[in-house]
Formats: sequence, structure tokens, C-alpha cells
Amino acid sequence: MRFHPTIGLEVHVELKTVSKMFCSCPVGEWDEPNVAVCPVCMGHPGTLPVPNRRAVLFAVALGLALKGRIARTSHFYRKNYFYPDLPKGYQITQYSVPIVQDARLLGVQIERINLEEETAKSLHTETGHVLLDFNRAGVPLLEIVSAPEIRSSQQAKEYLVALQSVVRFLGISDAHMEKGQLRVDVNVSLSPDSQILGNKVEVKNLNSFKAVADAIEYEIKRQRTILERGERVIQETRMWNGKGTEPMRTKETASDYRFFPDPDLPPLVLTDSLIEEAKGLLVELPWERQFRYEEEGVPSHLAKVLAYDPELTRIYEDVMEIDPKLMADLILNVILGKFSKLSKSLSDFDWKGFKVFVKTFKEGNFTREYLKEGIDRHLAEGVSFERLLKEAPQMEEIDVEPFLRELIVSKPQEVKKFAKGQRGVVGFFVGQVMRKYRGKVDPRKVRELTERLLEEAVENT
Ligand code: ZN
Ligand code: MN
Repeated sequence: MRFHPTIGLEVHVELKTVSKMFCSCPVGEWDEPNVAVCPVCMGHPGTLPVPNRRAVLFAVALGLALKGRIARTSHFYRKNYFYPDLPKGYQITQYSVPIVQDARLLGVQIERINLEEETAKSLHTETGHVLLDFNRAGVPLLEIVSAPEIRSSQQAKEYLVALQSVVRFLGISDAHMEKGQLRVDVNVSLSPDSQILGNKVEVKNLNSFKAVADAIEYEIKRQRTILERGERVIQETRMWNGKGTEPMRTKETASDYRFFPDPDLPPLVLTDSLIEEAKGLLVELPWERQFRYEEEGVPSHLAKVLAYDPELTRIYEDVMEIDPKLMADLILNVILGKFSKLSKSLSDFDWKGFKVFVKTFKEGNFTREYLKEGIDRHLAEGVSFERLLKEAPQMEEIDVEPFLRELIVSKPQEVKKFAKGQRGVVGFFVGQVMRKYRGKVDPRKVRELTERLLEEAVENT
């Protein structure tokens, strides 16, 4: 029997504001617990929340970037539940009218984006105690809820990668999953009928994109086995333990939370000037940038890597004018691959010198071999590009034609292949010439000559 998986994603993103959502405590990373706290974010009775304008601005910016409907008036609600990391006994969030509705990301509908507050961080000790750190309590959060429209783990991953990239480019979150700045819960259900949703299972505790994909795959298999036995899938919350999912608790429904409008907070009304300001935060979106790079001749998979990472984009934009395709290849295939081996990062590399070095190569001043060798030496030995330019072997005016002619005559089979349109043959001959005159001749000129001589050879047969 065939089952249709339906996946929904609920993503929490911590906003990179200066202060917290409802108080003036600073947002940041702290070595000491409970140093960025005040009576408001500690949930003391009698304190009053005041919304953070910048958090509102960030929510609107994301809503606009994802073509959502911005609510000019939205409301804060209390979501009531008891847990030690929530001393007020409720979390301030949005419910009836969220700040953003009906947005889209890679063709997937985003039903709502709620502006809410982060809880404290609980640390479970080996002695069985729970320690609470309120530095995180009250940090602004966006809760981004997709419609159940995702069909595979791969699609879920693409959605998340795109979302992470968008919030980073907007500058509203660093969205590091390992730091908990972007957290994902997935809902998975399986049904024999694509029009009817099966019982959904929520999986929490996913702290990497791989865990998200693995948990989805695991749930699809687990639920299929249950359904194939003719049993029902229990609607529940499960957690990911690294290998599989295990039950956590039966799923709450909205009524368990006793949502009601927070009487301490008036409706959130957006002014024209705030919306204009949010428009000012909009930037080129990663998939738009990827398309632009592809138009410049960069292969799709490389264009995507460059276009989705803010730091790579900044570096690439600065050097791409030299040759978009070559630069993409050098950065991703030649340089970045070696960074991890040498435990170096993007900032350890002399990108300015690199740009001049490649430009000089493009002008035909040295060979491609020396280009790669130079980059390697800069990476491994720290040789400056300035010195590499000075030491570049001058290309000699060697006449490779006699050697090439002889070679072509000695390989009639290759010439036949070329006659049949197999262009790869050119590379074979160029390779032979380059091996013989290693680093001393210009491969572009050799290629031109090879093509000409091959065509000549075909005409003469
Ligand atoms: Zn505070
Ligand atoms: Mn939430």
C-alpha cells in the first residue's frame, strides 16, 4: 500500500536585537548564568512588559521578504503552562491574529509568524538537579509555522536552509542551530489518501538539519509499519534521541494552553513609518542571487552555495568580476576544500591578493598550473600573493605545433572520435602537450591550436 507523507515545520528563530522582547535586558552570549536579568524577565509579580520595537521591525521585515500579509493590528496572548523555565506560568505569544500570515518560502505556505518570548534555559545536572539560566528568558523569538505541505525530508531540508539563509541576510538572526538560535519541531503524518491527513506526530529536540531529515525518515518508516499492521498511529509528541524517536508526552491541543489576550499588552499597531523602515531592511534573497550567479555561467550547485551564505557572498561579489565561473570554482573547489584540512577559515585568506593573482593569470601571464600551485602555497605555507606574482615563471614562446602534429598523426582513433563530435578528445591532446611542456605554455593557446589542427586532420582524411 502506498502512503503519502505530510510534513509541517515549526521553526523558532532567536532575534538578534540589542535588548529582550519585553524588558531592557541585553541580548547576547554570557559565560555566567543569570547576569542579564531583571524582574520582568524573571517573571516577578507586578512587573509590566513593554514590546521591543526592533523585534517588531524584524518580524515585519521577514514577513515582507517572504511575501506575507502583515497585520496592521495584531495581539499578544498568554499561552499558559507550568514549567520551571517559565516562572510567570505563561509565555507571551500571538494567537488569533499573528503579525504575519500567509507567507511563502520555496513554494511552501507559511501559515503564520508569531512574535513571542524565549523561555529560560534549563540545565539538567548529573546529580538530577535542574539549573535555570534566565539570560535567555525573554529574548525575542519568531515562531514560523509552515502549512503541512512538505512531502519529503529533502524538501524540508531545503526549506530550512533557505529560511536560515534569509534571516541571516536580513540581519535579524545569526540562526546557528548548534547555539539554539534556530530550532525546529517537525510534524509528520502518513495517510493512504493524499486528501486526508493522518494522525500527526510531533518530533522535538532536533538540533541539526541532518537530525531533522533523519527524524522525518524515521517517522515515515515507523508510521508506515504501524499502518501496514492495520493499527492507528497515536497522536503524540516524540523526541529524537539521535537514532530514533521515542515518546515524550501525548500531544497537547490548543485548548490545554487556555490562550487568552494578555491584559498587560494593548493591541500591537504598526505605523506606516515602521513598515517603511522594515522595507529598508530588505535585501536580495538567496534564490534571486543564485539565479543571478547562474546567469553569469556559474553551475547551479556552486551558485547555491555562494548565494546562501552571507560571508561567501561578500567575498564572491568582490572578486566575481574577474571571471564569475572561474572564481566560483576556485573559491569552492580549490580554496574552501583545503580550509578544513588546514583548520583555517575565510578570514585567514588574502582575498585581495587572490583577486590580483587571478586577474594576472587571466591576462595570460602564467599558466593554470601555476595559478593552482600559487593558491596552494599561499594556503599551506603562507606565501604572499605578491611574492607569488614576482616568482611566476615567465611563459616561454615555445612552438608546440610540431609535437602536436606528430601526436595527432599517431592517434588516428582519437581523430575519428573528434570527427564524430566527441569534444573530450581535445582535452586529451591538450593534456599531453601540457605534460610535456609543464608550466611553460599557455593552455588556452594550446587548446586553440589543438582544435585547429584536429579540424585540419579531419578535413584531410
Ligand atoms: Zn529583563
Ligand atoms: Mn513557540
